[in-house]
Amino acid sequence: MHNAYFNFDLPKNEPVLSYGPGTNERKALKQAIADLKSQTRDIPMYINGREVRSGDKKEIRPPHETAHLLGHFHAGTGEHVKQAIDAAMAARKNWAAMTWEHRAAIFMKAAELLATKYRFKMNAATMLGQSKNAFQAEIDSACELIDFLRFNVHFLTDIYRQQPVSPQGIHNRMEYRPLEGFILAVTPFNFSAIGGNLPTAPAMCGNVVVWKPANTQIYSASVFMEILMEAGLPAGVINLVYPPGPVVGDICYEHPDFAGVHFTGSTGVFQSMWKSIGNNIAKYKAYPRIVGETGGKDYVMVHPSADVDAVVAGLARGAFEYQGQKCSAASRAYLPSNLAEEIKTKLVAELKTMKMGPVDDFTNFINAVIDEKSFDNLAKYIDGVKNSNGKASILTGGNYDKSKGWFIEPTVIEANTPDYVTMCEELFGPVLTIYTYEADQWESILETVDKTSGYALTGAIFAQDRYAIETMTAKLVDSAGNFYINDKPTGAVVGQQPFGGARASGTNDKAGSQLNLYRWLSARTIKETQVLVTDYRYPFHQAD
Ligand code: NAD
Repeated sequence: MHNAYFNFDLPKNEPVLSYGPGTNERKALKQAIADLKSQTRDIPMYINGREVRSGDKKEIRPPHETAHLLGHFHAGTGEHVKQAIDAAMAARKNWAAMTWEHRAAIFMKAAELLATKYRFKMNAATMLGQSKNAFQAEIDSACELIDFLRFNVHFLTDIYRQQPVSPQGIHNRMEYRPLEGFILAVTPFNFSAIGGNLPTAPAMCGNVVVWKPANTQIYSASVFMEILMEAGLPAGVINLVYPPGPVVGDICYEHPDFAGVHFTGSTGVFQSMWKSIGNNIAKYKAYPRIVGETGGKDYVMVHPSADVDAVVAGLARGAFEYQGQKCSAASRAYLPSNLAEEIKTKLVAELKTMKMGPVDDFTNFINAVIDEKSFDNLAKYIDGVKNSNGKASILTGGNYDKSKGWFIEPTVIEANTPDYVTMCEELFGPVLTIYTYEADQWESILETVDKTSGYALTGAIFAQDRYAIETMTAKLVDSAGNFYINDKPTGAVVGQQPFGGARASGTNDKAGSQLNLYRWLSARTIKETQVLVTDYRYPFHQAD
């Protein structure tokens, strides 16, 4: 019986546990890490609610301890993509028809399971599989993912309540149905929370989903899938598969029921997806929704009036937490000549205190980068500085070592020109490039900050002078989707700083907000007339 409107109140953000010495959570997390390390997990795909093993097993090893085998995942083929689409389409009718309070209950339960029973297992899986320290795992795979689930339920409830006006004699209403087809969710390695949010946000809206995570996130993605199934997600609503990205893409974009893609990853991949979808546009039942959050070249602009210690802390955390592998990570900084020497001296001193090593040793602030490809790419940029003929130099760091894991020392490059390659390109690692400008030229350097890269994801300004803050905020208006004043450019919190970038950084549909959820809904407007019109004639054309 459907006879009442149910509330899903605005939630509070999930509290971040400290994992400090002596805490219960520290003990529980260490135990969960030990448990996972004592097993060799055999990770299936999940199609139509069933575990699917292809037999084509690929190894999973911690990026910081490549000698250790965590387990295997079963790689998929095009056949598995087709099965996933078929399962999704078969589940669609019942899922789309399920009343909201029952659909919502599944995601609210998943949030509770993640906050309690599965918290440490999920964090341990993220730490081991993606080389995150305890705090970085907690804010990602626990808190952010819990927040995505709870806040999206609240936001969607609000959307469903939005109704047009109805004058006397007419009842106008809006229905928000899911899209007519299936959604493809393609997720990156660097946030387990994004891995979980990209398939669940459309599913919450009544859509069915094929989810393809990055291979390097499968270890934690499979734990989230266990949670969804325990929470009661019906078979076929979200299907988790592991074929190569281009194989998944080719089959999905050719399919007449393809209704949209929810992507986070690199700009090149997103642009190739958009092209393929465009090439197939005549095949689809409806125009697909294309939602993508992609790369960044995020800046820190330091004004001559800035507080030096705040800048140093902002750069140390903003550029190096999770080894700089956040799309929002500070990767280029503009320092005024009056403060540059003090900032550099203090920053170098801080970086020298950062311990690097495996995640199980909680005293390590820096862990490994995700894989050998990323390691080699970063090493290439660092070597490029050594051969740059004086265009740039290494201020600190610059060493790398792959003997035990993919370790790149936190590195600061000092560029002598603002267009040096590492000031312009996304590196995605623990490498920050700084450029010093003449302090009295701070207004003209804003043009350089704005134009140096095609991205517009995050940016931060540091200043004490309020006129300068006002000027910079105005002049840098198009340069970032998330803009920070006197704070690091990372660490967006669901519900507080809706996240997403513009220009080459994405469609700026703000994950974890109503803006994003609207993309997975198709509204039907219904007008019902109570006083029937029975004559086509209007008064105006009657004779005087
Ligand atoms: P990636 O682009 O290499 O991979 C992302 C996903 O796309 C993976 O699942 C991958 O297997 C898949 N893929 C690769 N080629 C494909 C193809 N041709 N067709 C379909 N799928 C394909 O990115 P990554 O290395 O996992 O993540 C890092 C990138 O993600 C960085 O560029 C970072 O800036 C970006 N990122 C952006 C945000 C944001 O919110 N803007 C958040 C996190 C990461």
